[in-house]
Amino acid sequence: MANKTLGLDSQLYEYLQSVSLREPEILAQLRQETAQLPMGRMQIAPDQGQFMALLVQLMGAKKTLEVGVFTGYSSLAVALALPPDGKVVACDVSEEYTAVARRYWQQAGVADKVELHIAPALETLAQLLAGGQANTFDFAFIDADKSNYTNYYEQALQLVRPGGLIAVDNVLWSGRVADPQVQDNRTKSIRAFNQRLHQDQRVSLSLVAIADGLTLALKR
Ligand code: CA
Repeated sequence: MANKTLGLDSQLYEYLQSVSLREPEILAQLRQETAQLPMGRMQIAPDQGQFMALLVQLMGAKKTLEVGVFTGYSSLAVALALPPDGKVVACDVSEEYTAVARRYWQQAGVADKVELHIAPALETLAQLLAGGQANTFDFAFIDADKSNYTNYYEQALQLVRPGGLIAVDNVLWSGRVADPQVQDNRTKSIRAFNQRLHQDQRVSLSLVAIADGLTLALKR
């Protein structure tokens, strides 16, 4: 099949940002602070944050879920796009990284919109389901340990309402998913996840080639 997706070199990516990126100052500060951390490359790209904020606005989302907070860039981008009574239920295991996130949520005035759960996300999601929150979320973002992607997705699919959207990060995994030489566990997990979603008739599907690849799955 002919490739109609542009490869973005640095020059073109800078151009794209120069004519589209409207990154609020608070997000720019968080991005710069996170970039100093050893794991700094784990944060999402600013154009992806803006895209997710637009999705949330487009849907009129109020209740959202995030699996994998890190230092909070995506949750802050989403929280800023939510109405005043909007909510982000955020899951992470790291007190250290989410301490940065908390500081920025506070500074941005959205701390009251974010409900942070420090625990393995599979436990938190199971608790939400047990608490009767199935079919109540408008939007979910999955960006955590890749070996559990399928498990997170299955729980998120129960938690979002019909017409709700699940966004899954890193599905192109720096291109390694398409390289048969690469056979490590995380790459294999993402490959298996991608193949599974391709067949999943419970959702409408689009894999968007933004940043490291973002799959959008709309619950039917
Ligand atoms: Ca990611």
